[in-house]
Amino acid sequence: MKTHPLIKKIEQAGLIGRGCGTFPTAKKWQAVLNEKEKEKYVICNASESEPGIFKDEFILNNYPEKVIDGINLAIKTLGARKGFIYLKPSYYDKFRQKLEVLIGDDKIELFSKKLGDYIGGEESAMINLMEGKREEPRLKPPFVTSIGFLNKPTLVNNCETFYDIALIDRGKYEHERFFCISGDKTLPAVFRFDEKITVKEAIRKSGLYPDFPFFIQLGGKMSGTCLRRDQTDDLSIKYYAGLFIHSYEKDEKQLIRSWLKFFAEESCGQCVPCREGAYRLYNLYESGGYDKELFTDILFTMENTSLCSFGKMATVAISSYFKNIKQEKILDWKERLTCY
Ligand code: SF4
Repeated sequence: MKTHPLIKKIEQAGLIGRGCGTFPTAKKWQAVLNEKEKEKYVICNASESEPGIFKDEFILNNYPEKVIDGINLAIKTLGARKGFIYLKPSYYDKFRQKLEVLIGDDKIELFSKKLGDYIGGEESAMINLMEGKREEPRLKPPFVTSIGFLNKPTLVNNCETFYDIALIDRGKYEHERFFCISGDKTLPAVFRFDEKITVKEAIRKSGLYPDFPFFIQLGGKMSGTCLRRDQTDDLSIKYYAGLFIHSYEKDEKQLIRSWLKFFAEESCGQCVPCREGAYRLYNLYESGGYDKELFTDILFTMENTSLCSFGKMATVAISSYFKNIKQEKILDWKERLTCY
């Protein structure tokens, strides 16, 4: 199996995906390199649709040349025909001019997704949209590393991953990551921390440690996991792009409603568990017919039978809120499994 010195460097750095997946970057690059097909593509995912996560915006604002550098390195290493930067509409409007000047004659094209919707950031949904198809995830396998854009091997990495690649290539990578902190009574900010520090340390170092009772949602304001303060002591930030600080004083009903509404509205509708499940959860809650058993059944079904990670993630905020914050035992799925 042939490899490349840069892929070796990425592997030695232990770089993992900086989007919501945490797949080892070197393995992804190697998978595309291994493909015999001559026509290959590289896509930089800058769609960043999780509320409360805005680090890619920060990177495009402050270090766009490093992102382009990383994409060009991928094109060269993998022998790709072309690269794309896939941006959500607001980022396209904001960064188009700056990026076009920096791209110059490079083989990189900008692509704006149609709406600021969530699912368009999933790599296969993104590729469908770029091909003019319906914006919905594909069944996997095959993975996009072998059958991706125009059915050719395609490398899809997050914006921050390409930034890190540029540093790795120059020997300047220091195992840091960008981390967003925002929340109730908390101004949004992006920090660059050593990826080994804990979530608790990150909040302290940021200077944004709340002076009110709070819990956090780690990984984003919609699909992140709700955790108490004492659950953040040993948890590294390595796998997360940021956190949202919730005040205990907030209206619980509104919080739960915002999660359910988001997933009901953002489901692409392709598969029944997610389309119907998200809609029913929201309707049940809105109608006041909150039934713990039925809720548990729907959440269980969504988590275990949804076609893509969106349907599975739809259950995370609400189930972790009840388990960790309310400390209510409503979602003991092992017990519930005996019914199936
Ligand atoms: S889980 Fe939801 S977002 Fe994913 S394919 Fe099914 S309906 Fe679409």
